[in-house]
Amino acid sequence: MDIKSAKFEISNSDYRKCPDSDMHEYAFIGRSNVGKSSLINMLTGRKSLAMTSSTPGKTMLINHFRINDSWYIVDLPGYGYAQRGKESRAQLQRMIQGYILNRTQMTNLFLLIDSRHSPQKIDMEFMEWLAENEVPFSIVFTKTDKLSKENARKNVESYCNKLLETWESLPPVFVTSSTQGSGKEELLAYIDEMNRL
Ligand code: GDP
Repeated sequence: MDIKSAKFEISNSDYRKCPDSDMHEYAFIGRSNVGKSSLINMLTGRKSLAMTSSTPGKTMLINHFRINDSWYIVDLPGYGYAQRGKESRAQLQRMIQGYILNRTQMTNLFLLIDSRHSPQKIDMEFMEWLAENEVPFSIVFTKTDKLSKENARKNVESYCNKLLETWESLPPVFVTSSTQGSGKEELLAYIDEMNRL
């Protein structure tokens, strides 16, 4: 799939204010610094469509990007960062969960995992929550260029094996590097397929 247009549309703190549209949308989430903005920019071929974590403000909101005037990429706030205090963390969690559970247009959630890290509790718990709530999601391993090919393969494999200790099967898995553009075709082909359903 070619991305012919990619435009920022709106930022929200409440799913009820998200665009009034019946187009498919694909949300991206992960721990802060996992490489989410870089991945969105890589997928859309735009250098700074999604603001990288160094840009304050935007990252705490639900951001809608309209793609080819026919579907949306949704950039959700990063989680797990030492976020200012309990109340603010709870508020962020309510916003994210509200979006994920109520936004019927959300066709798939892409959960980003840094390919260098072993499974982290916060991600495992989040995946459990997604499964319990029957949220369709996929795992996207990021930053594989930071490892040798062999080590990236090994890390992804051991991560997946860890999941299979408690899960019957894996969700779809994508392996990416935003600096090298790898995984782009696979992700866009997957989205294209779902857009046609
Ligand atoms: P976000 O907080 O999840 O949106 O993460 P960013 O996209 O802002 O990336 C965090 C840091 O990781 C930045 O310094 C990026 O340049 C770097 N980064 C992101 N993706 C990649 C990647 O695929 N390869 C490499 N080498 N660095 C990456």
